[in-house]
Amino acid sequence: MTAQLIDGKAFAEGLRERVAELAAAFEAKAGRKAGLAVVLVGEDPASQVYVRSKGKQTVAAGMASFEHKLPAETSEADLLAVVESLNADPAVDGILVQLPLPKHIDEQKVIATISPDKDVDGFHVVNAGRLAVGLPGYVPCTPLGCLMLLKDKLGDLSGLDAVVIGRSNIVGKPMAQLLIAESCTVTVAHSRTKNLPEVVRRADIVIAAVGRPEMVKGDWIKPGATVIDVGINRVPGAEEGKTRLVGDVDFAGASAVAGAITPVPGGVGPMTIAVLLRNTLVSAYRASALDLPA
Ligand code: NDP
Repeated sequence: MTAQLIDGKAFAEGLRERVAELAAAFEAKAGRKAGLAVVLVGEDPASQVYVRSKGKQTVAAGMASFEHKLPAETSEADLLAVVESLNADPAVDGILVQLPLPKHIDEQKVIATISPDKDVDGFHVVNAGRLAVGLPGYVPCTPLGCLMLLKDKLGDLSGLDAVVIGRSNIVGKPMAQLLIAESCTVTVAHSRTKNLPEVVRRADIVIAAVGRPEMVKGDWIKPGATVIDVGINRVPGAEEGKTRLVGDVDFAGASAVAGAITPVPGGVGPMTIAVLLRNTLVSAYRASALDLPA
């Protein structure tokens, strides 16, 4: 391995510590804790793990956590009513509705009902629009976490060639917008892209957000490039009946060529919740018309 390891776990820990300091300062000034509400519909096991983890980390950062666990058969109207009540609740600064939702509920309708000022996930079209035109708003947590890691490693990104593989609303598209704002030359690749290995070989920065285990190979990587692996894929492990997590990048191959690379697990994954807490705190300071300390 020649690449430096980008330690997202350590970076996220530092970010959470900073958030905890800011949360304490907020409470002292505003006379209340910053609050994050998480809504979970149904019993999807992965979602339950995420929601538990979000709740724990919110409390650990000195913020208030409001969990709303609703049965899988909750109607869309009832869910929208819960979101409306959270929009109106002054103790709630951030609202996160855990996706995916059961099939009978229209996700876009739910996201559209969250107040853009409490949309700390950054999924509302108003926040997507703000990002696209360069206005302050909430940016989706995973791509914002990727950008923080990139800037920490590389400093100024201006003029670098970046290839984002994946064009989802949650990761790929906002990632591309963030990199454009940093003056990178950005290519967005997806399932219809021709000659993907060649496209990736141009990149000083590769962001893989595909959802295909170890798809990006070492010989696709330009020597010295920085590789950010967003993928979280569970695959069969070496032992019978055991599984392990891998990214969208073939780590062994890519780390022999890249200049720096995020591991999976321990790279981008831990950043997402840390950024979510940060976004919630930003919302709390805004709601109370207080200046967020630098
Ligand atoms: P989506 O399934 O929404 O999007 C996947 C994208 O990859 C699509 O744009 C798709 O193209 C593209 N794609 C699929 N196959 C190929 C291919 N063979 N070649 C090139 N592009 C392809 O996924 P998400 O963006 O939500 O997530 C991506 C990955 O990131 C997943 O592994 C997910 O688990 C992980 N993730 C991790 C998070 C974290 O906290 N670290 C948070 C969110 C996601 P097309 O549009 O043409 O179909």
